[in-house]
Amino acid sequence: MIEQCPRCHLRFDRLPGHILGSIAMNTILSFGVMAIALVWSLVEAHPNFDRTRLLLINIPVAITAPVLFLPLSKTIWSAVELLGRPLAEGEVLAQYAPDDPRTSKSPTTDASKKAT
Ligand SMILES: [Zn+2]
Repeated sequence: MIEQCPRCHLRFDRLPGHILGSIAMNTILSFGVMAIALVWSLVEAHPNFDRTRLLLINIPVAITAPVLFLPLSKTIWSAVELLGRPLAEGEVLAQYAPDDPRTSKSPTTDASKKAT
């Protein structure tokens, strides 16, 4: 797994414990997919609930979902971290840095601010 963005050089583990947040994000995503798979398989099997068939559908989902979501969960957690703790000076290459890291806002927020 790469440690920083190949384009802007943002380190993904900006704070100690970054892995815990990405594990939590992975758990949320995986359990969501597992719940959808379970409900879908129960609805599809209704009214004959064959235990073996339900297990054959849901066990592979439970095994593969956390593995497939690992890169995505790290990216999502990095985005959540960026919302809570905006970029400090020097964390990304200069051409990707906001003009003033302390006042960096999304483009939509800037546009709505100018309109008022
Ligand atoms: Zn980047």
